Amino acid sequence: MIIVIKSGVPKNEIEEFKSKLEGKGLIVHEDFGQEYCILGLIGDTSSIDPKQIAAYNIVEKVIKVQEPFKKANRLFHPEDSLIDVNGIKIGGGNFTVIAGPCSVESEEQIVGIAEDVKRAGAGLLRGGAFKPRTSPYSFQGLRQEGLDLLKIAREKTGLPIVTEIMSADMIERFVEDVDLIQVGARNMQNFELLKELGKTNKPILLKRGLSATIEELLMSAEYIMAGGNENVILCERGIRTFETYTRNTLDLSAIPAIKRQSHLPIIIDPSHAAGMWWMVEPLSKAAVAAGADGLIIEVHNDPANALCDGQQSIKPKKFESLMSSLKEIEKFKWRFDISELGL
Ligand code: PEP
Ligand code: MN
Repeated sequence: MIIVIKSGVPKNEIEEFKSKLEGKGLIVHEDFGQEYCILGLIGDTSSIDPKQIAAYNIVEKVIKVQEPFKKANRLFHPEDSLIDVNGIKIGGGNFTVIAGPCSVESEEQIVGIAEDVKRAGAGLLRGGAFKPRTSPYSFQGLRQEGLDLLKIAREKTGLPIVTEIMSADMIERFVEDVDLIQVGARNMQNFELLKELGKTNKPILLKRGLSATIEELLMSAEYIMAGGNENVILCERGIRTFETYTRNTLDLSAIPAIKRQSHLPIIIDPSHAAGMWWMVEPLSKAAVAAGADGLIIEVHNDPANALCDGQQSIKPKKFESLMSSLKEIEKFKWRFDISELGL
């Protein structure tokens, strides 16, 4: 349930009203926009009569929230969330591209690619250090050494770094070393990990699970937010369908669906969706037009010899030309109109 407070109500009256609601055992989430104040109720609201609440003279209206996700819900926070990743702002009308190799392989490789993608306009550098591979015999990442190399690349280019966390015991190290912590598709429903990440204040890039619904993705975001960490960025990276031509099926409709239901930024990973480098350009363009807040793209200087995901990695030159054409598309990208919420 959300309670929309009339505009111009003094803060102390809102606080008093809020305490009354908290007295009923509810968590009250406050959201002050430019023209509104919303109190979002979390907990068992069955004892609350919406008509009684609407009778308070400070209340404009009461709206029941049907969805199970609350803090992630657009109704709790109508305006787009803006997540600050070490100075780079993601969401809220910005368009941000994260680029880099699937895996960190050497200092020369990661620093070289970081310089290339920065020149082309990327805002952040990606690179896996701990890799979740299907086969235990495949390259598992450089692990701690990979993290150290990412830090060197950050120092040389100034690009904030994004890398995947695999388990809760790594949180302390990641909070210290990484700017944006990625939760991979395979861990989207590792609820213990999500709960622990909820106790930090680090921005989290939460990727949609291989077979997860949009609601399940939003519920995973809710796990992180429920703990107090509201710095969540969602990522659609393709889902399992009956189609086998592509590695996954990019669910483009997830962009408008999430934009309508949530204030969290949504970025698209065309590389893992398609699994083929030549599809990255058309899918990226479509994602921008459909309203994505950004992209995460695999870029490799030598895809044929990459230790992971070379077949879906584009070369720096291709990345550069893609970046300039995306700027054109951005001008007419679709944006959600919050007046559609009917607040
Ligand atoms: C990745 O980004 O390198 C990755 C493993 O992605 P996903 O979790 O989406 O498969
Ligand atoms: Mn990859």
